[in-house]
Amino acid sequence: MPRMDQNSPKPGCRTGPQLPTPVFVESSPAPPGIGGRPMRVSILLQITGDDGAIGPAEEVTTFEKANERPEDLGLSIAEGKAMLAAVQARTVLVQATTWSQRRRCCPACGARRRSKGSYPLVFRTLYGDVELDSPRLHRCPCQTTDGPATVSPLCDLISSHVAPERLYLEARWVSLLPYAAAAGLLADVLPIASGANRTTVREHALRVAERAEAELGEERPCFIDGCPAEWEALPIPEGRIVAALDGGYVRNWDDRKSNFELIVGRSVPEDRAPRYLGLVHGYDRKPKRRLFEVLKSQGLQANQDVTFLTDGGEEVRALTELVTPEAEHVLDWFHITMRLTVLSQYARGVAHHDKAKSARLLAALDSIKWLLWHGNQYRAGEEIAFFEDDVDDLEVSYPNLGKFKRAAHEFAVTIASNAGSLINYGERFRSGERISSCLAESTVNTVISKRFAKRQQTQGTKRGAHLLLQTRTRTLDGTLRPLFERWYPGLANDNGNEAAQADAA
Ligand SMILES: [Zn+2]
Repeated sequence: MPRMDQNSPKPGCRTGPQLPTPVFVESSPAPPGIGGRPMRVSILLQITGDDGAIGPAEEVTTFEKANERPEDLGLSIAEGKAMLAAVQARTVLVQATTWSQRRRCCPACGARRRSKGSYPLVFRTLYGDVELDSPRLHRCPCQTTDGPATVSPLCDLISSHVAPERLYLEARWVSLLPYAAAAGLLADVLPIASGANRTTVREHALRVAERAEAELGEERPCFIDGCPAEWEALPIPEGRIVAALDGGYVRNWDDRKSNFELIVGRSVPEDRAPRYLGLVHGYDRKPKRRLFEVLKSQGLQANQDVTFLTDGGEEVRALTELVTPEAEHVLDWFHITMRLTVLSQYARGVAHHDKAKSARLLAALDSIKWLLWHGNQYRAGEEIAFFEDDVDDLEVSYPNLGKFKRAAHEFAVTIASNAGSLINYGERFRSGERISSCLAESTVNTVISKRFAKRQQTQGTKRGAHLLLQTRTRTLDGTLRPLFERWYPGLANDNGNEAAQADAA
């Protein structure tokens, strides 16, 4: 039993009048307030209707609390869940009943509609699944006989049977964690059964993504509208937007031997929050529209400079074409150096077989890098051609020779096919412009790797991956909550969205 200083009770402490310094003897009863019977905590709920009628104060739940150990203080997880579930169930019940009663009469003629019993309905909320009885009413005789024979007013209110904020949190957590982990996390802290929730959580998250997808406008081969004279009349734009796009692969769950390609991107305006983009290549029917909408949400104007940084791949490059008039496509410096690094490794490997040739190849690569960095395309092109020939002519027993030759050829093709997308990187870099900074690469890692690439987390089908990318990119750039607030304007008044604010920051 802990000793308490009985001579200086704290204000508000319920130890009653001052007691003499206690002397504890085996048989002595515990003094009041110390180690007596557990206290009883009753939670009362009183609801005043919108008509001002004050309902009874009902006890929703009761806890017996000991007061001996740190774990006795406050509500336990189980008690917290029980309290939330009980308050939620009562509140929703009163609200649902009020809603149904108000709609008992025919909205057309005002006659009271005949009841045809009710049917059970489960409304899934963050604070538990609430079981409700949804009253069923006969169709009013004043109505045509085309419609359904019965109506259930409650279905107009909760047609999806899921509370918007439950959908929101499920979609958000599923974007960050595997389905089972997200379901477990919800069940850890909220009065939601974890059992079948893995499937439910998945289904809900996909539903959210599908709703967002349905809002996306139609695809167009070209998003450039108007004419240069109109664009010039526009106000001066806020600054350049730099958008990095890159590809990544995930395993196909249907056919484990094959992969499918994702395209992910990050668009960074000068003065606005960045946004992410993600799609499954070949599955997405609206890739250009998707990119256009991301830029538009960042205030894109037709007279605004936009730089698209890519790895130079055909599909990704095609995606950036005809999206906005003042766009330039730039081969990402990071991807150039990455290829040069691989080539240097091969060239170094040649040293074990021919030191002189290895040194010559490495020197050539240094020169190519320097020429590309300074935008000297013509000479870089020549050097690359010589280099490719030199590698082709190598006759050494280097085991990676075949790979080396292939890599040299691919590099030459990439540079040649992106001739129009090479810039003076050095100059841009000195003027403080973003020319790479691994923007694209880090985007791939952020959007894909953590969630998709690990085998045990791979969420299979192209459709599933594509939909999940839609909620994931929105979770990452903080636009998931604003989307919900647009769908459910009542959520906008809620201050409980620190998580979304933290994301946006
Ligand atoms: Zn009627």
